[in-house]
Amino acid sequence: MKQEYLKKYFGYDRFREGQETLIDGILSGRDALGIMPTGAGKSICYQIPALILDGITLVVSPLISLMKDQVGALNQAGIHAAYLNSSLSSAQYRKALELAGQGRYSIIYVAPERLLNEEFLTFACSMKISMVAVDEAHCVSQWGQDFRPSYLRIPEFIGRLPSRPVVSAFTATATAQVRDDIIDLLKLQDPLVLATGFDRKNLYFGVETPRERYAAVKAYLMNHPGESGIIYCLTRKMVDDVCGRLIRDGFAATRYHAGLEDEERRKNQDDFIYDRSPVMVATNAFGMGIDKSNVRFVLHYGMPKNIESYYQEAGRAGRDGEPAECILYYSGQDVITNQLFIENNRDNQELDDFSRALVQERDRERLKKMTFYCFTNECLRDYILRYFGEYGDNYCGNCRNCLTQFETVDVTEIAEKLLGCVRTSGQRYGTTVVIDTVHGASTAKIRQYRMDQNPFYGSLSKTPVYRLRQVLQYLQMQEYLAVTADEYAIVKLTARSREILDGAQTVMMKWAKEQVRKPEAAEGAAKGESGAADGGGKTGRKKRRGKPALASESAGAGGAEPLFEKLRALRMEIAKEEKVPPYIVFSDKTLTHMCIVKPETKEEMLTVSGVGEYKFGKYGERFLAKIREDK
Ligand code: ADP
Ligand code: ZN
Repeated sequence: MKQEYLKKYFGYDRFREGQETLIDGILSGRDALGIMPTGAGKSICYQIPALILDGITLVVSPLISLMKDQVGALNQAGIHAAYLNSSLSSAQYRKALELAGQGRYSIIYVAPERLLNEEFLTFACSMKISMVAVDEAHCVSQWGQDFRPSYLRIPEFIGRLPSRPVVSAFTATATAQVRDDIIDLLKLQDPLVLATGFDRKNLYFGVETPRERYAAVKAYLMNHPGESGIIYCLTRKMVDDVCGRLIRDGFAATRYHAGLEDEERRKNQDDFIYDRSPVMVATNAFGMGIDKSNVRFVLHYGMPKNIESYYQEAGRAGRDGEPAECILYYSGQDVITNQLFIENNRDNQELDDFSRALVQERDRERLKKMTFYCFTNECLRDYILRYFGEYGDNYCGNCRNCLTQFETVDVTEIAEKLLGCVRTSGQRYGTTVVIDTVHGASTAKIRQYRMDQNPFYGSLSKTPVYRLRQVLQYLQMQEYLAVTADEYAIVKLTARSREILDGAQTVMMKWAKEQVRKPEAAEGAAKGESGAADGGGKTGRKKRRGKPALASESAGAGGAEPLFEKLRALRMEIAKEEKVPPYIVFSDKTLTHMCIVKPETKEEMLTVSGVGEYKFGKYGERFLAKIREDK
């Protein structure tokens, strides 16, 4: 059933990592907590059970824009859903409640503040509520950045219902503190907790240090015409400045920050979402609850205050899973600006001096890690994942450093010695002891274990320790070595170790070139901004699978305009008719897929990812006609 619904309503053939487990858990009646990065597909994890369970699913969601968007998307997919929040007039609200009372909706989005409202409670108690799904569940935690006190009252609401529904919660925040808070404060009962990896493979990461930032950003936009993206600035003033210049330079840009009137903010946000102004220039006030799936780039005009913020903001790119780019334009001034923010932070007024000093220290520490990101020669993705406590594989092949700073080296000798050391010491020691031994360290432990007597002691004294670690980790990934998963992390040989110990195998790996990228050096490298500004251009990076490459391929002999552009125009036309954002009609990914499949019949069209029965009924023929025209 769940498989069928996935295809019928959402047009997808396969579940993504984690989705099926969560859905099964929920369907079996268990509470659930899903922790997945932005764009991983959390919504489907509660939407599909909502369709299968009989009764109503209430989705608690913090933002009006988010609800509107989700409900719009569900209605487009042929699913009856509604939202109840303060954007409705009281007449509209009554009407919606009335329809809901007649059982018209299987999914109802509701603002947390509404839950304990008498009218709503009466309604909820008179219906069968099969599940309460809490979206953006980290809002319940005071540790997070988006604390919403009304989230704390969700359990009280659940307690008032005649029988306890399944409670599911979803968030993209990974830290253990927040995770524990969600379980405790939402009173989840023996929940199935599922966290997927935080890597977003479709995102390219880059750092640039251009001499003139504005010119670099402008060049980037010129190289990516028609694409939608966000440019984050550190201050409101910078937003006004950059947005103004872009508009004068002829770009369809708009802006967003907390200093604007509500009215303008709302209008600008809509212009962005509906692709009327595909480029949004904003402070970090913009983005939470922005579900736009076709954001192709997130540029940072200045370095944010920490990696958490950076990854969250950058993560708004490429939610559709298609290639997208995240580029940070760094300038030395950014550190100073951020330091000032920390010194003058007024968010912690209620704290005593001691706690405030602690918070400041923590913030300074985070800023330092963020600054290192701008200067590291290592894989940028790996740097971020390590920051969140995940192990990447040192080389991702899709970040600026991997593409420009890495070299392939022969590490056979290092591998032989590391393995030799493990073998001759009886596979008894952890990674640190093994590395210290070959490096020839003279620590108490080494002497205590007599590793200074080991034949390989000091045999790699010239190789820096961090390199030895990288090689060891690489060997582990290639299964030439194994490391026990307990706290001791003992290094063991594997079935493959022989190949190296026998000298039969050459081991090659990629690592970052040895050289410190100083700010001056980086600036020099980025001279002549027009070209260097585009994180990609010269670096020989993999061609993006997305539309630029495809577009030219599919430009048939006759049509000057590539198919993708034609489909995009048709999508815009339909979006206007339906008054929904274009990406809700079909995502960029779906259009790209259509360009590849070039379906001729309904059956073929239904194989395209993102085309379900219902949407086919509405727009399928029009897209088929466009594709036929192109042949
Ligand atoms: P999240 O809430 O986790 O940030 P969404 O639920 O908005 O992510 O999903 C992101 C995008 O991925 C949406 O466009 C959604 O339709 C798409 N998606 C979700 N599940 C699948 C799937 N199984 N196959 C293909 N695309 C999917
Ligand atoms: Zn990388």
